[in-house]
Amino acid sequence: MNRSNLDPAQKPAINLYSDTQTEPSVGMREAMAKAQVGDEQFGTDPTEHALCERVADLLGQQAAMLLPSGTMANLVATLVHCRPGDEMIAEASSHIVSLEGAGMAAVGGTQVRVIDGDRGRFSADQLHEAVRAPNRYRPRTRMVAMEQTTNLGGGAIWPLSQFEEVVQAASDYGLAVHLDGARLLNATVASGVEPSQLGRRCDSIWIDLTKGLGCPVGAVLAGSTVFIEAAWQWKQRLGGAMRQSGVLAAAGIYALDHNVSRLAEDHANARLLAQSIAEMPAFQLNPSEVESNIVLAKLDERLCIERFTSALRDRGVSVSTFPGRRIRLITHLDIDEDDIRETARILEQVSAEQMSPRINENDVSALRSTRSSPARSSE
Ligand SMILES: *Cc1c(COP(=O)(O)O)cnc(C)c1O
Repeated sequence: MNRSNLDPAQKPAINLYSDTQTEPSVGMREAMAKAQVGDEQFGTDPTEHALCERVADLLGQQAAMLLPSGTMANLVATLVHCRPGDEMIAEASSHIVSLEGAGMAAVGGTQVRVIDGDRGRFSADQLHEAVRAPNRYRPRTRMVAMEQTTNLGGGAIWPLSQFEEVVQAASDYGLAVHLDGARLLNATVASGVEPSQLGRRCDSIWIDLTKGLGCPVGAVLAGSTVFIEAAWQWKQRLGGAMRQSGVLAAAGIYALDHNVSRLAEDHANARLLAQSIAEMPAFQLNPSEVESNIVLAKLDERLCIERFTSALRDRGVSVSTFPGRRIRLITHLDIDEDDIRETARILEQVSAEQMSPRINENDVSALRSTRSSPARSSE
């Protein structure tokens, strides 16, 4: 993510930068204020226990732990599954590969082998190609990481059959299967596939509380009792073990009670936005690829992406940018249908202004070459 998109001094009126930008609601803050707490490290925080039990259940696993972030969930899981020099397989655009400072390498000595997938997903055949046959020269392939929904893949959802084929192939090779479910519940709401149906096939799986669920802090990592026991040692080592974390867990429980089924609204808003954008000549986007709350749109080559997003920002709309001239817009619980219509109007306005021939860079250079070449000017 391009943080330079954010101006901390000025909150955008319509913040589509990320669903991490939601602020805890009044109801959530009340639940946090009332939370019963203990000392998490001593195992005496009842609210933390309640959240972990609930998420373990939801994900079809035996046990769970609360962590400060999803990044730490990915790191802790990798540290449990892999020894230094082991290799993990992940999709090239995945968050664990591209947006976590190579924590698995920096802390765990894990090497990554990437698969070029389709919007963040890959096939069992591709996994088969990436797994190394054991011999003394090769790194030991130890783990495969998947993402549901895919973030830089534009919120794509793994079809259940494809997911199961990859998991089957992974278990044939004896690999640990890790699911980065930062937005797993978006996939649940969009697809109707229960999280436990995916979760019970994984060795580790987590959900983020700070994305569509709207909490201020936290992620919950689940696995077998043995996995979570090993994960606790890493959580402790990394400084992720907390104290009265029931305050945070209460927000998580509140979110599971109130903010899951409403994700359908975010998806409807993303679809609405995608349909509008698809009709604008300044963008390339296939609305049928918008499966959850993320809209990725490619900007026309005649436009400068920095200039475009800066004009959006001046009009109160914040988005993020990615390589390949793409802008990403994420819907969430602080965005309603009116915001979407307003965003579409502003996108239209800015692209019309910036596509206008007088200020278009290509046209300017075309004009220059026309001037310097009399032969062409007579055409
Ligand atoms: C946001 C995100 C993460 C990291 O989670 P944090 O809680 O922000 O550390 C990991 N994976 C995916 C797919 C994400 O979208």
